[in-house]
Amino acid sequence: MALIVQKYGGSSVADTDSIKRVAKRIVETRRAGNDVAVVVSAMGDTTDDLIDQAMSIDSNPPAREMDMLMTAGERISMSLLAMAIHAVGAKAASFTGSQAGFMTDARFGAAHIKSVRPDRIRRALDSGHVAIVAGFQGINEGGDPTTLGRGGSDTSAVALAVALDADVCEIYTDVDGVFTADPRIVPTARRIPRISYDEILEMASCGSKVLALRCVEYAQRFGMPLHVRSSFSHRSGTLVLPDGMDPRTLPNVGTFSSMD
Ligand code: ADP
Ligand code: ASP
Ligand code: MG
Repeated sequence: MALIVQKYGGSSVADTDSIKRVAKRIVETRRAGNDVAVVVSAMGDTTDDLIDQAMSIDSNPPAREMDMLMTAGERISMSLLAMAIHAVGAKAASFTGSQAGFMTDARFGAAHIKSVRPDRIRRALDSGHVAIVAGFQGINEGGDPTTLGRGGSDTSAVALAVALDADVCEIYTDVDGVFTADPRIVPTARRIPRISYDEILEMASCGSKVLALRCVEYAQRFGMPLHVRSSFSHRSGTLVLPDGMDPRTLPNVGTFSSMD
């Protein structure tokens, strides 16, 4: 049985219909005989909307209160996703970053993960649940919620995958993988079926927002295979694998049109 961590970005859970669609996909992966832990982002533009609301009240809001506010976005999506999985007849439980054991430093708004102790996630998986974890958040030593910086759910997903010793970390988004350029801006951009950690790090540091920089650094450091793909299709996306790993050993690759 493989252990798969799946991360769904805000664009994949923008409304309740999307949440139901994602739930079906998660349950399919589970029923195919895998353990599945999910990291989810806030729905659509929720995080931006929360920031706008805060700014309309206080142009210089206290950092602690901003993180308290922003972590609420992922609480909404995680609980709705757990309900959607329940509604299709499977077992799921959602967990905040704190409940999932994400310990961070004290830098509100740009916290670094210091350790992940996913005991509750493991117990949930062992009892046959899909474990849903709020992305982008953790807790500092003082017990206050922290956020990891914009786009931080990617990093949460890789950190959880490493802590659980998962077989693959799948990053689901609204395009078919990593492209040679932003496919929404450059229509001739091509999907890259395989890319190295170094190449994707270079793209991320050049400002491409396809994956958070820290997520790729983390994956490279721990040799965690990544599969960036669309939640709107079953096609295979872009694989980022440690040196020497055979892509055919990766679980849940979907319909591969080309592997090289
Ligand atoms: P999510 O909600 O899944 O986190 P993001 O909006 O953060 O999604 O990232 C996905 C978007 O990244 C795509 O819709 C695409 O427009 C953009 N993007 C920028 N550069 C690239 C690239 N080189 N390859 C693929 N997508 C890219
Ligand atoms: N919801 C957070 C953001 O919008 C984290 C994420 O989506 O990765 O930045
Ligand atoms: Mg993102």
